[in-house]
Amino acid sequence: MRRSLKTVVLIQYTEYFLFIYVCKNLFYLFDINKFKMKLLKPTWPIRFGHRKKVTNRSVSTWSPLATAFNTRPTSRPMFDSMRERTGLFNKPELISFEGFANLKEQAISTTDQLIEEATSNPTRPMVEIFDELSDTLCKVADLAEFVRIAHPQSHFASAAEDACISVSGVVEKLNTHKGLYEALRDSVRRGTSGDQHLAELFLFDFEQSGIQLAESRRRQVVALNDLILQTGQRFMAGAAKPRRVPRSAVPANVRQFFSSEGDDIIVSGVYAECGEAAAREAAYRLYLAPDASQHSLLATTLEARHEMASICGFQSYADRAIKASTMETSANVRQFLDILSDNLYDRAKIDFDAMLKMKKQETPYLDQLMCWDTPYFTHKAKTQLLNVANSDFSPYFSLGGCMEGLNMLCEELYGISLKAEEMLPGESWSPDVYKLGVVHESEGLLGYIYCDLYERPGKPHQDCHFTIQGGKLLPDGSYQNPIVVVMLSLSGGHRSGPALLSAGGVDNLFHEVGHALHSMLGRATHQHVSGTRCATDLAEVPSVLMEYFASSPQVIRRFARHFQTREPMPEDMLHRLCASKHLFGASEMQLQVFYSALDQHYHGPDASHRGSTTEVLQRVQKQYYGLPYVENTAWQHRFSHLIGYGAKYYSYLISRGIAWSVWHKYFQQQPLCRSAGENLRQGLLRHGGAVPPQKLLRDYLQEDVTPNTLANALAEELDHHKDHLDTVFKILQK
Ligand SMILES: [Zn+2]
Repeated sequence: MRRSLKTVVLIQYTEYFLFIYVCKNLFYLFDINKFKMKLLKPTWPIRFGHRKKVTNRSVSTWSPLATAFNTRPTSRPMFDSMRERTGLFNKPELISFEGFANLKEQAISTTDQLIEEATSNPTRPMVEIFDELSDTLCKVADLAEFVRIAHPQSHFASAAEDACISVSGVVEKLNTHKGLYEALRDSVRRGTSGDQHLAELFLFDFEQSGIQLAESRRRQVVALNDLILQTGQRFMAGAAKPRRVPRSAVPANVRQFFSSEGDDIIVSGVYAECGEAAAREAAYRLYLAPDASQHSLLATTLEARHEMASICGFQSYADRAIKASTMETSANVRQFLDILSDNLYDRAKIDFDAMLKMKKQETPYLDQLMCWDTPYFTHKAKTQLLNVANSDFSPYFSLGGCMEGLNMLCEELYGISLKAEEMLPGESWSPDVYKLGVVHESEGLLGYIYCDLYERPGKPHQDCHFTIQGGKLLPDGSYQNPIVVVMLSLSGGHRSGPALLSAGGVDNLFHEVGHALHSMLGRATHQHVSGTRCATDLAEVPSVLMEYFASSPQVIRRFARHFQTREPMPEDMLHRLCASKHLFGASEMQLQVFYSALDQHYHGPDASHRGSTTEVLQRVQKQYYGLPYVENTAWQHRFSHLIGYGAKYYSYLISRGIAWSVWHKYFQQQPLCRSAGENLRQGLLRHGGAVPPQKLLRDYLQEDVTPNTLANALAEELDHHKDHLDTVFKILQK
């Protein structure tokens, strides 16, 4: 039976994943930290001091890398017709879309051989066979999944989709292959499996789909999996749907803020960016009103997940999801969230009080801060602190300039350089993609990063990192270099000038390149655990760390230059920018704690005998968030990450706690220190998921990583930024 297109995507997120287990969360890393407000245009007067003039600063020229990225590549049919052609990602099989069928056939045939080998007393360790199986399938599945999503030509996209469907069929077959499971299990028992940690990961993946159970129980698990795939997919589709309401349901004074169709008004979001309080409130209440269909899809999914976890011997779905992670148990996650929540209470209250003061100045007749106000006032305060429009920063962040900054960082920290490479005709899926070779000063080429950075019709509007090929030590002793894609949606870059990034855009670029560097610097022996293919709550550490680099004056000073005058960013702008990034950080973090706690409660041990999801939301909001629940709303019906992250939404907070510990301990004083970079590479990045995360972090940080230490690290981060903000405020007000 064929699975539908969307089901295949969801396979990455849910249960059918043994051999492409890594793909379920890191197949592509859609970033949850982008679950933030949009930036708005300032509409209020500038209040703080004035800008200093720049004088006597050296004006240098752009590097070849910066020049390459400051020009958007275009197709050159005349020139290209004279050159040799290759296939996508330089794979000769993919000169034409028909090549996907060959790739798929080859993968299926290799898989059959490997199953045969594994089940007939193999001479090499079982882990080696399993990793080869995983590599064989991932190489087709990862590539096909990316092409399906990103290729602008429909015949390529649909050939890739066919390959995805075939591979998911093979994966299903492997998941239920008793002989294969028993061969692995017995080799683990005998101690002949090879790498113990990886063998256990493979075994755990198998057992998550219930293969160790009696046939009737296993069938139940399979049926529940199917149900979860279907209801989860429908819930995710429903979560983003605009709401249509009769005109009469919208207060007359705010109707002009919404679009209308006939007699109906269409509400397509929460209007967090709107300066009119009444419109924000109306949008919030209408968009987040309870939805009967979403309610039932969510309840069904959560119950099915709980039942499936129980059958597989777990107390809750959360325990099952968290087992192989840094936090190891859901009890640890809850403890982390509780300690952090306590830490945040007073700190967030200071933020909310300041926002309320702002609100009273704007609308003296409204005396309570509400959920729909926080993104608006956070943005307003940031813009006031910046003193200039966000757009005034962009000329200092041309795409080429930022790439030069990244290259500088790579050279200083790791002795690697990013080299823009010419592509052969046919290698890319779109003419405006760049290719970077990542070259170490003594080790040579480490891998390739394809940069698909510009928006185009049909391309997902989401920042993302895709693994196309994982790193792996090959039997002949050579290393299979990783290949990844970094995807953003920048505009510009045409003849009018280079793409200019907003301050937030710079963070996002550094974040995604952080994932790519994790892949490039990874040298794990097995591809199943190479680079970003590690526990979800560890995977964001390298990318969050890169955001700290992108917020450090010492780093920005080295690369932020005006794209026309090439003058460095004025110092006061630089300090305002770095400080503004952390304004109202406590209230923002409290919101993330609330979301994470909600996700844990929904997937927790009492999932089967609780009341409605809205009652749980009210209770959790009261306990974890400083602003009140709004009657007759059901925010959870819009929270699609409940499906995609299922009990792992907390991961970003944990990763951030770890990243802050790393930054604070090794980089804060001297961000561009080579020995600290080398230590990060050898101690953390090179291992990917090859070492259990607790041990990896203990060895690298030289301390235990516990719920307590991480919750305190995050509080410490907030205090550090607050002190910095206070200092900048004082200087600016002089
Ligand atoms: Zn990320």
